[in-house]
Amino acid sequence: MSSLMNTYGARTLTLTKGAGSRVWDDQGNSYIDAIAGIAVCGLGHSHPALTKAISEQAATLLHVSNLYNIPQQQRLGDLLIQVSGMDKVFFSNSGAEANEAAIKIARKYGNEKGVKNPAVIVMANSFHGRTLATLSATGNVKVQIGFEPLVEGFIRVPYDDVAAVKAAIAEHKNIVAILVEPVQGEGGVRVPAADYLNHLRNLCDEHDLLLMTDEIQTGNGRTGTFFAYQHNGILPDVVTTAKGLGNGMPIGACLARGKAAEVFQPGNHGTTFGGNPLACSAGIAVIETLQADKLIDRVTVLGNRILNGFKEALSHNTKVVDIRGKGLMIGIELNAPCAELVQKGRDLGILINVTAMNTIRLLPTFILSDAEADELVSKVVQLVTEF
Ligand SMILES: *Cc1c(COP(=O)(O)O)cnc(C)c1O
Repeated sequence: MSSLMNTYGARTLTLTKGAGSRVWDDQGNSYIDAIAGIAVCGLGHSHPALTKAISEQAATLLHVSNLYNIPQQQRLGDLLIQVSGMDKVFFSNSGAEANEAAIKIARKYGNEKGVKNPAVIVMANSFHGRTLATLSATGNVKVQIGFEPLVEGFIRVPYDDVAAVKAAIAEHKNIVAILVEPVQGEGGVRVPAADYLNHLRNLCDEHDLLLMTDEIQTGNGRTGTFFAYQHNGILPDVVTTAKGLGNGMPIGACLARGKAAEVFQPGNHGTTFGGNPLACSAGIAVIETLQADKLIDRVTVLGNRILNGFKEALSHNTKVVDIRGKGLMIGIELNAPCAELVQKGRDLGILINVTAMNTIRLLPTFILSDAEADELVSKVVQLVTEF
């Protein structure tokens, strides 16, 4: 009998070691890791720059509270401001907590401008986390069922549908913000129209709403720019991120700009662990390594190579509904539920994920060699062909 709560179902694989884009199980089998801790380990496993940064920090000072100045937090904040164009950062421990901060900013912003019961527009099929507010914002009943009453103050519209957002703004006078994933991850790697965020930015400007992008999955280089909104040449008012920021050290961040950056005042928000020296030392090493090794450009090259490989081999396959992605967020939607492919992939030596029932999702590391990328493509093609 396991001592662990049954939140994750049966787990049949035990990974004991990782190096680069590969992981090993307790039987000595190796796998190309095309999940990378669910979009976390962009730099791969056991990256020497990260190992060095966190071992040195661990040997010097693991943790002090936010009662004190934390130079590593300041440095990571400065780096994030530089790469994002935002003004201020709050550090959390996870993605859901970063979104909690964003939702609190939206509500306080609305309350301070005199909006009664401020509400946030959220999207169908979205995923924003598992805390009460973020599961309420999430567009998936499976995440919500059993946890009613949900947190109020969210108005849901279809994803990638600008007209629906316009209609919601016209109908509800209490809307203060829009929370949106630039590419939906858990929802099945859904890539919206190229100008979707531009339209949302315009609507927010017109109606004095905060545009809040959830870049917990799309951030930190995953789509080929540091943050995905940078493909659109716009700036949101609030950006949340986590996953890839620490490459496996738990850390999240809520970034804000302009008036949104001034909403929190002393006593409004806080956390014991968020932004501690150890977590921030990892974040600094991640951003410096992404920059020094030009890895975000590599994401675009690798993403195109993999996507084109799938399109060449699979676009005429009648089981394939769609092949889509941005950078190294790649989805292959099949015409039937395909969860069984996870185990079949393991048998071939690749770790993949299936999301939204029928979509194979790949979130590989940014340090795949061309040969590893091609091996991944040919094995996934084999899985789909034999499906
Ligand atoms: C993973 C994810 C979250 C939740 O992050 P946690 O660190 O698991 O709390 C929120 N939003 C998006 C888009 C995510 O992919």
